Amino acid sequence: MDSFAEVESSKHLANTNYSSHLTNSNNSSNITSSSSSSSSTSSRYENQKRRDWNTFGQYLKNHRPPLSLSRCSGAHVLEFLRYLDQFGKTKIHTPICPFYGHPNPPAPCPCPLRQAWGSLDALIGRLRAAYEENGGKPETNPFGARAVRLYLREVRDLQSKARGVSYEKKKRKRPPPPQQLSAPPPPSSGDQA
Ligand SMILES: [Zn+2]
Repeated sequence: MDSFAEVESSKHLANTNYSSHLTNSNNSSNITSSSSSSSSTSSRYENQKRRDWNTFGQYLKNHRPPLSLSRCSGAHVLEFLRYLDQFGKTKIHTPICPFYGHPNPPAPCPCPLRQAWGSLDALIGRLRAAYEENGGKPETNPFGARAVRLYLREVRDLQSKARGVSYEKKKRKRPPPPQQLSAPPPPSSGDQA
């Protein structure tokens, strides 16, 4: 084990020693691979941001009546978010659904699929940054509008109730403790009649 670690750590030295035998391209690819590994998460974010920005640009282009970025308000951003819901993959139970508040329903139900709050929240963050990177002024940034913030908070509260998922602290880092599936109902529930 120790010797392996030594080999690993001395690889760079060995590489420079052998560099005269290796082609330049090999040497440079080594550099790029080591530098890109540290920034791969940020470049993934950048790519996603660019895609989101393009999607929004496409949305503006198809908007009826036509809508330019400079005339775009928080209300239009909300319209965009609601439009995205049709592509959502997260089941949001309605209050009359028997699975309302269940994080893991045991059976299918006809409740609608929506964009999860976490996705919308991250999306707005990326678009907000992209807007300013593309020349927009922070004070007119529609993605930072109060209405958008309020809407996101509303979606978060609604979804946390409907799905029985708390969005307060955890970010799906560790799985929740196993729940007792066959817990008997509280005895007081039969007193209704
Ligand atoms: Zn449901």
